[in-house]
Parts: sequence; structure tokens; C-alpha cells
Amino acid sequence: MTASRALHARSLADPEGFWAEQARRIDWETPFEQVLDDSRAPFTRWFVGGRTNLCHNAVDRHLAERAGQTALIHVSTETGERRRYTYAELHDEVNRMAAILQAFGVAKGDRVLIYLPMIPEAAFAMLACARIGAIHSVVFGGFASVSLAARIDDAQPRVVISADAGSRAGKVVPYKPLLDEALRLASHQPERVLLVDRGLAAMARTPGRDEDYAAWRGHVGAARVPCAWLESSEPSYVLYTSGTTGKPKGVQRDTGGYAVALATSMEYIFCGKPGDTMFTCSDIGWVVGHSYIIYAPLLAGLATLMYEGTPVRPDGGILWQLVQEYKVNLMFTAPTAIRVLKKQDPAWLKRYDLSSLRLLFLAGEPLDEPTADWIQQGIGKPVVDNYWQTETGWPIIAIQRGIEPLPAKLGSPGVPAYGYDLKIVDESTGEVCAPGQKGVVAIDGPLPPGCMSTIWGDDERFVKTYWSSVPNRRCYSTFDWGVQDEDGYVFILGRTDDVINVAGHRLGTREIEESLSSHAGVAEVAVVGVQDALKGQVALGVCVARDPARVADAPGRQAFETELMKTVEQQLGAVAKPARVVFVNVLPKTRSGKLLRRAIQAVAEGRATGDLTTIEDPVALEMLQDALKA
Ligand code: AMP
Repeated sequence: MTASRALHARSLADPEGFWAEQARRIDWETPFEQVLDDSRAPFTRWFVGGRTNLCHNAVDRHLAERAGQTALIHVSTETGERRRYTYAELHDEVNRMAAILQAFGVAKGDRVLIYLPMIPEAAFAMLACARIGAIHSVVFGGFASVSLAARIDDAQPRVVISADAGSRAGKVVPYKPLLDEALRLASHQPERVLLVDRGLAAMARTPGRDEDYAAWRGHVGAARVPCAWLESSEPSYVLYTSGTTGKPKGVQRDTGGYAVALATSMEYIFCGKPGDTMFTCSDIGWVVGHSYIIYAPLLAGLATLMYEGTPVRPDGGILWQLVQEYKVNLMFTAPTAIRVLKKQDPAWLKRYDLSSLRLLFLAGEPLDEPTADWIQQGIGKPVVDNYWQTETGWPIIAIQRGIEPLPAKLGSPGVPAYGYDLKIVDESTGEVCAPGQKGVVAIDGPLPPGCMSTIWGDDERFVKTYWSSVPNRRCYSTFDWGVQDEDGYVFILGRTDDVINVAGHRLGTREIEESLSSHAGVAEVAVVGVQDALKGQVALGVCVARDPARVADAPGRQAFETELMKTVEQQLGAVAKPARVVFVNVLPKTRSGKLLRRAIQAVAEGRATGDLTTIEDPVALEMLQDALKA
């Protein structure tokens, strides 16, 4: 038996023993009384009765040994800023931010919504919330007012932390007007809005509500705020993600289980040692950013590099220049970033000294073989694909190189990670599939530490969505199709639901449909994900216009398409904007009125549509074909 398989087997045979050992990786103010309580499954509790704090473990705990070591490096190629914080300095800044939040009345259990670009203050804000036991909810800066308003209403934050602007590819992206519009739309109103003024865009301020970060930072001075010791299962954060319905789900994370899971993953999967530097090129608005820009590297005593910029500005060598300059040991990004680099001169890969770099991790979307080959050969370092989701917080499937460097199989992220009782199950019987047989990637409970505890404010939806979708089997569904081979390697074959993955960003087609439908000129709409060489998938909107005359000629269609794209951009953000919107007279539906999304997708990708005996009007597909050609 291989070492990873042995560890995996042990983690499932004796979860309490296995995870009790891992729990020694972090500090506990009060030791736990029970490792695992699954009596209210699927509401699993890990390390029951134990009291700890994420900020203490990520920052304070390191002061004795590594106060002077770099903890956080910030590079913005957008503004030219570069900042570096030691653990002691990070501790100071986090304390200041925590003192400001306390001055605003934020207490344990209160929500703080963070809508910030990739600046150090975002890290301070997250850690400060953790310090005082407030629950942070970070919203990706690429989301616009309607998305933001939905999250504000669901999380009901006492305070929002934001900034004047971010910057993307040299273009200033104002945040404050989007936030103001979101607050106009939301029924919940925060008491205070704390604003970081980067001097990038003018900001309107609402007296009595909007506060200036720099002024408050000066005001609180060298404040010290003690860590709030939370019971292990108390929530640390809520992170919204897309699902089948238009309403995003607030993935709720615990405290102790998450700290233990991340610290363990840093050894077994990411091979990170104290003093190393990790460069996770993602955004704090996504789960990869939460786990591997902020918490995991700091929990494990590494330096983390936070980057505001794109992989190709000022040139296609910037990521590698950063690796050389900061002696990066571990790098983590999404396959899309590598596909973007593939369009650049390959000489960039050889220009800088990459000797410090040990491993490149890729996750968030399927890694195609040509991209994996290209980068592996180009930089001469092992590439480690890993598969997981917002819900799990850390990898479900990977080659766990910290245990042993099992050979990778192209097209597979690897084998199930310790702690996950992964099964490929038949979607109609719930039975475990034979090797080579396609089924749903499911996990038999209990989920290991670090995985979601529930959907924020909606336990019922948690059970209904995740734990009731496979018949005859109480298991967690990932909503991905997969197949496992004889050696245990899992291959991921796409989503079972209407979630699409654009450049590693998870989007719900229903949310985009709702946004398009909100335009008065739209009668009906379907949104599907279509394969794309660069982004993996892009969204395609298929619309029926209320007034057919409006889309009767090419200029009319073009104008309407532009208008609809703008609607989505304004409501949801550029990240959700469809690549194309086409117009048809009728949408392909079944006789019972259900949208034939898969058939639409097949036509758009030029594939065979499969069995269409239930289609209401076969002409609908021909029409779609014509619309796509036009
Ligand atoms: P998110 O919650 O945004 O991280 O998206 C999770 C989804 O992205 C998964 O359910 C998969 O559909 C997809 N995904 C993530 N990592 C991989 C990977 N390594 N290979 C294939 N698909 C992936």
C-alpha cells in the first residue's frame, strides 16, 4: 500500500485518533473534550469544547519565534506599491484594525462585510475579525451592486469595510459607487462603513456612517486587543458561492476545524515550512484566497505574497520576476492564469532565477494536459493539480506530495486526500460505481475538519442541497461528475448542476439569467456555459426579445446584445458578463416546459445533442444554430 493510501485509510478508520494528532499543530486556549461529535449529522462538530482563535494561531503564536520574519508581502503592479510586514508589524496592524472595529461596537458573532481590492488592509480586516470573534464575509471586488446587495441582506453586517477603488489592467475600478448603489438596493443597512482611501478615485461620503481608515488608524494608535477564544465550532466566516438557484449560498466555516485542516494541508499537500514564501495568485474574494493567501500560510509560519495585478502586466514575466525577487518557494494559481501566459513569449519562463520555487499548485477548474505540459516543461518544476470547492475549504483530491510524490496521471488531480471518504456514486441508485464507471463525486459523512458547517442562516437548505441529492444514500454531493480508476485516481468530468466555471470563477447560470431577465426588453432567456480555449468556459445567453422588431437586423441585435451585457456588468459585475448574447424566437424546451440546457450547450459547442424525444419544437435548435452562426 502506498503511504498516502495508508494515511487515508487510517484517517477514515480512526478519524478521532488521526485528527486529535493533527490538532496539536495549533494552540488551544482550552483543550477539546471530544474530537468528533456527529450525533446531529450532517451538522458535524470537530474538537468539541476546545477554545481557540484563528488570529492568535496565524499571528500572535509566531511572535515568540519569528516576530522579525516577513509575514505579508504586498505587491501591486497596478499602483506600483510594494509593502512588507513582519509578523510583529502584522500583529500591530491587525490589533489596530480590531480596535477600530471594537470602537464601532463590533462584537463576537457580528458580521463584517469586506469589499476590498487586493491590499494589505484586506488581510488586516479578515484577521481582525477573527481576533475579536466577528464573522467576516469577503465579497469579491469583481461583483457589482446587485450581487453585493444580496450578500449584504443575507449576512446583515454591522460594518462594511471598503475602499475608494481597485485597479485592473491599468484601469481604475471605483468600488465606493458600487457599494453605495448596493446599500441603496439592500434592505439591511450597516451602522458604519470604514473606507480605505487609496487616492485612486474621489469618494462621496455619508456623514455619520462613512469613516476614514487612515484617520481611525491614527486615532487608535498602538492599541492592543485581546483574542476572543471561540468554541471550535463557532463560525469564523461566511463566504458566498453560486449554486443552482439564483440566490447565492453563504458557506459557513467553523474555527478550530478549519485551523487544524489548513495547518495539516500545509504539510501533507502544500509542503510548506515555516520561513518559506508562498505566492497564491488569486483573490481574497474566493476560497483559495481565504485559505491559501491568508490563513494557511500564516498558520504555518510562512510569508505570504499578496498580488494586485494581472499575469501579463507590465509584461508576461511578472509572476516569475516576483518569484525571483521574493524567493518564492510555493506558488498556487488557476489553470486560466497559465493559459494566459501561454499566449506570451515562452522566453519569459527562462528569464528569471526560479531556483527557490519547489512546486506550482493549480486548482479551481479542470487542468488540461497541454497547459500542464507546457508550464511543467517551461519552468522545470512539478505542477500539482488539486480539486476542491468553496464548501470544503481545502483539497479533496490531490497528489499529496508532503506524504509521498505519487506519480501524477494526466487529466486527474490525483487521489482522495486523507479525511475524505470519497465515493463515485450512481446518481439514480446511490450505489458505489465500479472503477471506470462515471458517477457523482460524493463524500460519505462525516466531512473532515475545515469543511462547511452549514449554509449561513439556513440549516434546512444545507441538508436539502448537499445531503439529499443522491437517492438511497446520505452523502455529501460535490455536484461534479467523476470517474475513479483501478489505482484510485479520480478524473473530474464537469458539473452535474447549472454552475459554470469561467476562468476558475464559479458562477451560477441562474443568477445571470435573472439579471438578463430584469431587462424590460427580454421575454425569456437561457444561460449556459460553453467551452472556451482560454477561460475553460464562458457564459452564452440565449434570449427571446419581447419585441422581435428590435432584433430583426444585425445592427439591432448588436445594440441589444451590448445593452444586455451592460445590464449584467452593472448588476453582477464584469466577471459574470456573458461572452455572447444571441437572439431566437423560441427557446428549446421539453413538452413540459423545462429548458433543454444541455442541448443548447451541445449546439453551441458543435456537438451532437443526444436524445431529444422530449423536445417541444425541434425548430428551436435549428434557430439557435442559425443565431450562433450569424
Ligand atoms: P469553487 O467553489 O469556486 O472553488 O469551485 C469548485 C468547482 O470548481 C468544483 O466543484 C469543480 O467543478 C471545479 N474544480 C475545482 N478544482 C478543480 C480541478 N482541479 N479539476 C477540475 N475541476 C475543478
